[in-house]
Amino acid sequence: MTWGWKWRSPSILLEGAERFERVEVPVYCSTGGPLFKTLLSSRCRMDCRYCPFARGVRAPREAWRRDKLVRVFLEAYRRGLVRGLFLSSGLYGDPERVSLDVVEVAEELRRRGYRGYIHLRLMPGTPLWLVREALRLADRVGLNIEAPGPSFFSEIAPSKGRWSLDLLSRLLYAAHVARDPRRVDTQLVLGASGESDRDVIALVEYLAESGVGRVHFSPYTPVRGTPLASVRSRPTPLWRSRQLYEAEVLIRDYGFRAHDFEPILDDEGNIPPSSMQLKKRLALAHPEWFPVNPETASMYELLRVPGIGPKRAQMIVEVRNRGELDLAELRRILGPVWRAAQRFLDLSSLSRSMLTSYM
Ligand code: SF4
Repeated sequence: MTWGWKWRSPSILLEGAERFERVEVPVYCSTGGPLFKTLLSSRCRMDCRYCPFARGVRAPREAWRRDKLVRVFLEAYRRGLVRGLFLSSGLYGDPERVSLDVVEVAEELRRRGYRGYIHLRLMPGTPLWLVREALRLADRVGLNIEAPGPSFFSEIAPSKGRWSLDLLSRLLYAAHVARDPRRVDTQLVLGASGESDRDVIALVEYLAESGVGRVHFSPYTPVRGTPLASVRSRPTPLWRSRQLYEAEVLIRDYGFRAHDFEPILDDEGNIPPSSMQLKKRLALAHPEWFPVNPETASMYELLRVPGIGPKRAQMIVEVRNRGELDLAELRRILGPVWRAAQRFLDLSSLSRSMLTSYM
């Protein structure tokens, strides 16, 4: 477990059969609130080359007893220390056994009347019936895809299973069953396998089209004692994951396509670092998209304008459908982003209609 600024570890007293026991609560401060985030076990028989919990890496190992985990979590929840549970695990046994253990924790919590948030991470090769069980019990289910394709994956996780069959197909099945992208997510280790941003963006587009929700990027950090640390000694810079998060949102929520990014990629297929927002960089690289006429543009065309997000685009369309879109109304809708958006808009007909309304 990596302890950083997002982690806290308050302790609680738990009543045992003969005495009280002090237990540390692993609290991860996510954007949605504090989560009880833990591994059922950090023992693992896999040899992922970047992972501090891989077999053969000297690291302290811990494992929860399932009944104790349930008690500690419920007590932490009752005291308001956490708002939900995020549970994953090392692969200490076969994938079915480990996924079953993870799912059974959720089952026990629900059996005890807990109705709050549960996020479960499933193992590669989890049987399909267990994927369905996980979705029945949890609010969100994830399976880490780790790399943007089979060749990258086998480089960094040679024994973790087959990328297409054990990871991708399970993830797509979860998305198919859930029928709600918000309920299925995944993660990849950014920069571990030598993949380019082009590779990542292609995967993000494919997953978004397949109904998978967020793709989280875990920037690779070399950990002493892991095989990869001697080959890739430099951590992935945070700006790379920030830019790819922007790309992921543009593809998933704004309808951008992977090929839209081509003009801004360098010779290696990567997005060079910049302090400018990615959407504006794309707009400047695609002069053929502009200007956009707010009176006639589709949602997708509006969403390509810097400053205009799904909410503002929707407002423009609604006001337009009521026949009430004029320059003043557009300025009101765009508010603080008016200046950013203005140069990409064709306002000639709106300005004309404003003039004629004053005549
Ligand atoms: S399966 Fe998970 S815990 Fe085990 S070595 Fe791979 S990444 Fe680490």
